[in-house]
Amino acid sequence: MTHDPDFPRIKLDDLQSDYPGVFDSALYVDVGIGWLPLVRAFVVEALPHDPSLEVHEMKEKWGTLRIWCDTPVLAARLAKGKAEIKSGQTCEVCGEPGYVRRPPPGRYAWWRCRCDEHASPDQRSWPRREHGAMSGMMQVRGNWYRYDEAADAMIKTDPPEFR
Ligand SMILES: [Zn+2]
Repeated sequence: MTHDPDFPRIKLDDLQSDYPGVFDSALYVDVGIGWLPLVRAFVVEALPHDPSLEVHEMKEKWGTLRIWCDTPVLAARLAKGKAEIKSGQTCEVCGEPGYVRRPPPGRYAWWRCRCDEHASPDQRSWPRREHGAMSGMMQVRGNWYRYDEAADAMIKTDPPEFR
């Protein structure tokens, strides 16, 4: 199965000119234009905390955005986590609300975050599944943080309960 090329991607050139230095060493960026506002919000939030922020790679994995950058600054790492978590609720094609379309058990297909309009008929037919215990959460240096929608921020929280 090959990567579906049928939707516009974020252009690395645009990011390099908008945020000098941040994306200069990025080798690989392959994510949909729908996630551009999340990437921009991440940089705008993280950069004041870590002026030497460098993004090395961005891609989609298991339906959500992954950003590779090795910042030691907590606030920058939380901003990165926030963008990645919100990508699971944002259509990668258009930026409207969506969710990760997971193929039913036994079906081999890509996981993709799509709104109803940009989901394929196949993806629309898949049952919506509940998120796992760690959904919306991230761990940094032994502490857990959860994405709080009302605050649009990562909030320190108790570890998830595994069932
Ligand atoms: Zn869409």
